Amino acid sequence: MIRILPLVFFVLPFLSFGQLEHCGFDLYLQRQEARNPGFKDQFLSFWNHAQPSASVNNRNTVYEIPVVFHMVYNADDQNLSDDVFLSQLEILNADFRRTNANAVNTREIFLPLAADAEIEFVLATVDPDGNPTTGINHVQTDRNGFELDIFGVENTLDEVKFSATGGVDAWDTQRYVNIWVCNILDTGFGQLFGLAYPPTGAPTFAGLIDTVEDDVAGVILHYTVVGDNNPTADDDGIVFNNNGRTLTHEMGHYLGLRHIWGDGFFNGCAADDGISDTPNQDQASNYNCNFANNTCTDAADDMPDMVENYMDYNEDDCYNMFTAEQVAMMRFCLEELRPELIEGQFVAIDEQAASTLSVFPNPANDMVSTVCKAQMVEVLDARGRVLKRQAHGGGKLSINVAELPVGFYLLSLQGESKIGKFVIQR
Ligand SMILES: [Zn+2]
Repeated sequence: MIRILPLVFFVLPFLSFGQLEHCGFDLYLQRQEARNPGFKDQFLSFWNHAQPSASVNNRNTVYEIPVVFHMVYNADDQNLSDDVFLSQLEILNADFRRTNANAVNTREIFLPLAADAEIEFVLATVDPDGNPTTGINHVQTDRNGFELDIFGVENTLDEVKFSATGGVDAWDTQRYVNIWVCNILDTGFGQLFGLAYPPTGAPTFAGLIDTVEDDVAGVILHYTVVGDNNPTADDDGIVFNNNGRTLTHEMGHYLGLRHIWGDGFFNGCAADDGISDTPNQDQASNYNCNFANNTCTDAADDMPDMVENYMDYNEDDCYNMFTAEQVAMMRFCLEELRPELIEGQFVAIDEQAASTLSVFPNPANDMVSTVCKAQMVEVLDARGRVLKRQAHGGGKLSINVAELPVGFYLLSLQGESKIGKFVIQR
């Protein structure tokens, strides 16, 4: 979760402890498997095959996430102007929507995997007290900076997240993405660019990070890495981090993504990032953007290292893509683990109401039917996204599902709290 210019080998203190615990995704699959044997295989097959499919992805909701920047400055020159934050937001949004200018640099072999996350970030317009805000919160501190005690048990950088320790208290982290910008002190181990916690329950971090307390959820950035028009950009003595992509990388962590090399320290090819469409990679590229890198042999098709992936350690200019499965993971984490950020933007599945509606035939192939008096019927995927809508006058309703991929679906009746589950098999 840290983007750092490494000078020495070290283990993140908060990766070195914590108990193994099942993550939310595993529990979800286990619960469904117990009710419906075979669900897990089918779900995973649906997950793996449906996500990159344009026909399904085009129907996805584009999520809008409110963000607040807390500019925690000491010296006046650290107090970045709002123009810098606006440029930062543009870069972040371009990267997440794959409208980044250097998307054309994605190598041909990776083009089928590159994906638009359909996630956009907007400055908060209302603060937690209901007052209008620019979403950019400038606060002076009497602290010269904040540092990570890498030998400590606590993450001391989190002191920037509390007014009692010279920082700024989080805005409700379930409703805002909090991004603290401050002077991260280099304590002799290299300049840290940024840091973010994954959501509690992120399947990719199972056993590594179990619980992230609400009051520290969010991202920390060193003030020199914000935006691409930052007058202090060279104060850290590093030029390759001047284009605002530290936040893209950290936001990937915030939404549940691991480093692409899987964070293995000794046998890197055995460590995986939990994402199957990223090639296996031995270690971080360490800012060399070398297209010839191929550090591990992949089982099926031996792809080179995806050094242009935002979750590697690379130069800002080198980064240009997330993969389809990384996108699926981020959307899953948003929908299931940070749902209040997108409240009202997706349809929640009411577990109590599930299976109260009879759907036939089940399994289905190209048509499903039900009997109901609803005016509007919706077909949803396993995560509650609406894929089809059909008006209905009452009685027996048949709906064409021939174009939907094999997998698990829900039929929902508008105006009645009834949901039916069905499977498409071919
Ligand atoms: Zn990282």
